[in-house]
Amino acid sequence: MNKSELLSLFSSDYEKYYKVSLFEKLGFIRQSCSVCSRIFWAIPQRSICPDHENYTFIGNPPTSRRFSYTQSWEKIKDYFEKNGHSIVNRYPVVCRWRDDLYYTIASIVDFQRVADGKVMFELPHNPLVVPQTCLRFNDIENVGITGRHYTSFCMVGQTCDADSNGGYWKDKCIDLDFGLLVDIFGISPAEITFVEDVWIGAGAFGSSLEYFVRGLELGNAVFTEFEGTEKNHRVLKNKIIDMGAGLERLSWITNGTPTSYDCTFESVLKRIYEMSGMDNLFSSNRNNNYQSKILSDYFSRISAKLQSTSDVLQVKKQIAQELSVDFEKLQKIVVPYESLYTIIDHTRTLVFAISDGSLPSNVGGGYNLRVILRRTLSLLKQLGLGFKVTDIVDLHLDQLRPLYPELMDYRNDIHEILDIECKRFIETQDRIVTISTKIKKGKTKLSLDDLIRLYESDGVTPDYLVENGLLDAVPANFYTRLSELHSTNRSEKRDKKEFNMDDNIDLDSSKGTTLMYYDDPLRYSFNAKILKIINKNLVVLDKTCFYPRGGGQEPDFGYIGDYKVDNVVKIKDKLFHHVVGTFEQNEGDLIDCVVEKERRLAITKNHTATHIINHASRSVLGSWVWQNSAYKDETYARLDITHHSALSREEMQEIERKANDIVRRNLPVMINWHSRGMAEQNYGFRIYQGGVVPTNDVRIVNIGGLDIEACGGTHVFNTGELGLIKILKTERIQDGVVRIEFVAGENALNRVQDQDNQIQYIVNKLGTNRDKILETFSKNIDESDKSKKKIKNLLRRISIASVDQINNDSVVLKSESNEDRFLKYYFKIDEEFDDEFHLLVGQTSTERNPDLVYISVIIMENKSAKIIVFCGKNATKIVKANTIASQLSKMLGGSGGGTPNFGQGGGNMIESLPGMSEAVRKILIEKLNETTEKD
Ligand SMILES: [Zn+2]
Ligand SMILES: [Zn+2]
Repeated sequence: MNKSELLSLFSSDYEKYYKVSLFEKLGFIRQSCSVCSRIFWAIPQRSICPDHENYTFIGNPPTSRRFSYTQSWEKIKDYFEKNGHSIVNRYPVVCRWRDDLYYTIASIVDFQRVADGKVMFELPHNPLVVPQTCLRFNDIENVGITGRHYTSFCMVGQTCDADSNGGYWKDKCIDLDFGLLVDIFGISPAEITFVEDVWIGAGAFGSSLEYFVRGLELGNAVFTEFEGTEKNHRVLKNKIIDMGAGLERLSWITNGTPTSYDCTFESVLKRIYEMSGMDNLFSSNRNNNYQSKILSDYFSRISAKLQSTSDVLQVKKQIAQELSVDFEKLQKIVVPYESLYTIIDHTRTLVFAISDGSLPSNVGGGYNLRVILRRTLSLLKQLGLGFKVTDIVDLHLDQLRPLYPELMDYRNDIHEILDIECKRFIETQDRIVTISTKIKKGKTKLSLDDLIRLYESDGVTPDYLVENGLLDAVPANFYTRLSELHSTNRSEKRDKKEFNMDDNIDLDSSKGTTLMYYDDPLRYSFNAKILKIINKNLVVLDKTCFYPRGGGQEPDFGYIGDYKVDNVVKIKDKLFHHVVGTFEQNEGDLIDCVVEKERRLAITKNHTATHIINHASRSVLGSWVWQNSAYKDETYARLDITHHSALSREEMQEIERKANDIVRRNLPVMINWHSRGMAEQNYGFRIYQGGVVPTNDVRIVNIGGLDIEACGGTHVFNTGELGLIKILKTERIQDGVVRIEFVAGENALNRVQDQDNQIQYIVNKLGTNRDKILETFSKNIDESDKSKKKIKNLLRRISIASVDQINNDSVVLKSESNEDRFLKYYFKIDEEFDDEFHLLVGQTSTERNPDLVYISVIIMENKSAKIIVFCGKNATKIVKANTIASQLSKMLGGSGGGTPNFGQGGGNMIESLPGMSEAVRKILIEKLNETTEKD
């Protein structure tokens, strides 16, 4: 839909879409901008719209009331509360309830739920106001520079469902917003301008009124009224008001400070100025200070000027001229403050994001966090203020406490994550230095494997290497290769392949399957009617106890009649049972079915253990632990959690201990259905561990009040049924994700017994008893080390003794044309001694005899051959060791190389060995004659 067409459509009928009762009552005049023709409403006559108006409130606010950032919120809260609104706590900045967004980008997002591409609204109260922290990373370069851009800001959201209880529509909305500005903030009605606009979202749209004071946009009231397209639309059953106003701007308009950062971060800045000795723009003696004057004048101008252009450098030069200051000199004064504002903004964003469970990483939304953190660290270093990013975190927590008291609970977590990330950043910088010297020295290129290793172990992205000039471009296949390495969607692919289902099969026409596994979880046998048979191996029944593959849980097996069921999937409202062989029954027949009880029980235990491991990991590691993905099969389960580092053995055992503690406490597993809104309000967004639930009813699984999740799987009734949870292994599978593999119940005991058997085997082999196993094992290792040393010494003696023998056994070759030119060579195919021996003998004998060429071919245990070549000093004038190694390796189907003195190589084609002696002779004679000719 075209925005400007829609705007002219609405504007042509402005009485209906824009003329609210307030405009009539107070005599607002509808006017058109002489510059851009936008239409706006204001009490006085104005020739231009607010877009072209300078920020005249800077240094001269339009009200005598001064509200700090948190005070502004208090005023807004009281006002809307008095006017019948419920005040809702902010939602997380990590948007867990929508899988199309990483972060909450606007207040209305809190209440939007997407299913089948359609947006629905889930308002916990009506009407309501929320101080929603929003994260946006599309304007990072402007933060700190323009005076008004942020990576995180508070959008005061006034939201209402016009057609439900308590709802209102345009007239009242604008009355309220106008009242807030005039009665609470003390702004004169003549200062306020409303601009006609439209809003278009996912499948819905409507008119909107933006309101401005002295050129600054303070809020935008959106009236979501229609669904469908511009040409074919209908009025929504529930029309929605979505008014969003920036808290930073509301505070700014009352203070008129040079930048909005000065009042938003007032107390943080004040402390930093005190601690660092940087000049405070607000200090009482600033008028005496030349620099303070310049700064204040500069920032007052830049915000206004950058409204109409994005060319920062040009604007800066212009201001330098206006202030009669040399541009370079201006930069020197201004840049530290820009950096400081940036640091403070970025740090606040990290505070919110980490509190809400997002980790800096190389993937998804975590990428943005790592970018702003690394930028912050670089700027901190440049400024040299002498404090850490975590010091600024604490200043933020102090300032934000009245508005967001919950942040304080996460202080330690934020510190821990940032400390780790800072350490990693320093390591990365060191790595970058090492890599760059390596590349410059050796002119080596980084291979794809190098890049993957750097990415996985150090978090160095190829983009970062490109930035640093160490890589020309990110290899096209890099991210594909990376996702292949970590692909866990094996079962999905298997499904499609195995089922081989025709796309044309009509899934909607026939009746759906009644699912009995929720209401009657202990029932394993049943009688059902066959509704449909596809491909002679896919069976749809009218009802079933078979649990299908879903949410990471593997399907039940069992029998339909005499046919073994080896796979079950749910598509729409039908369950498809895949049977082995050809299904020779008829649609409409009744048939006895049975679910394999042992398998179901084992999977159910492993599944329930997944919830417990998730809870235990979070309580041992930290609040940032979330389920990334999960897989539950009969013999084991795995849970991928979000965590910054590989787990230590102690951490793994602590998680195991916590989990088994929950098992022993025999806590009840309670399962209830809730409406989605109620579930979110009661339990928070932690319920979405397995991702978004696209339905209005949510199945909440509550394990003893400890772990509460929306989950559709099968669970035990009490945790004691699990008996034992054994962690098998843990592994860091990608940046920010750790995999834990474990098993519960009978299978856990089996695993423990298997491990015990392995220990017994070792005990028997060592010929010791279990009490002394460690002692005996260490002793054996020591002895083995000693033996190795002895053998080495023996070899050295033998090699020295062998030199004479080798001299005797070597053959002399003479050039055909020059009798003074000759070579001595020794060749042996050896199955007895290893390469260590030949390295010693070869080196020693060619040192003693500079005319000698020493060639040995060692047969390895794996039926391959290794080639070692040494050339004495004189011999290298005729032939090079690396040439010989390379040529002989080729005969073996491998490759070789080295230096003129020493070459090595090898290959697998040992059938070529018998001809090798002759080949060596040929190579050497050829070289002798070649050299002679050159002479
Ligand atoms: Zn205009
Ligand atoms: Zn579950």
